[in-house]
Amino acid sequence: MFCVECGTEGPVYEGLCAKCFRKKYPVVQPIELLDVARCESCGSYRLRPGWSKVDRELALPQILREAMPPLAPYERVGFTQVTRDEDANNLALTVKAVGRFQDLAVLQDFHVRVRIKPSLCDSCQKQRGLSEPSSPRASIGRRVRPRSSLGSKRSTEASTSM
Ligand SMILES: [Zn+2]
Ligand SMILES: [Zn+2]
Repeated sequence: MFCVECGTEGPVYEGLCAKCFRKKYPVVQPIELLDVARCESCGSYRLRPGWSKVDRELALPQILREAMPPLAPYERVGFTQVTRDEDANNLALTVKAVGRFQDLAVLQDFHVRVRIKPSLCDSCQKQRGLSEPSSPRASIGRRVRPRSSLGSKRSTEASTSM
């Protein structure tokens, strides 16, 4: 078989040799900036199926997969990343995306900035809700009123005893 682009003889994919295929088809559309929610209480990461208590280095490939599906004609894509911490909530990632098409593996590398958004996962939010009064304004009002009526009562008692 010959490549329709460059005429090279060998295995072809959709009529192209591996080299021309790589050139023509990017694996993913790289995202420059990715926001990731992380529970500031238990450290869970928000993934598409829900909050997940996994290591950052395990959460990141999944977050990348969710953000960047393989472009046609690739069937699958896998991600690996090297993470550099710029500060507590800003990461600079060097990402390698490997796209699979039939028996061909195509590597694409690029940079992604990740911003960690401190938030609360569902279960930590629930726990916090249980330990705090459900409506603080109502309980303050209740507490204040008897105190002030008690005070006025005392002052009337004092004036009558005089
Ligand atoms: Zn070619
Ligand atoms: Zn949590």
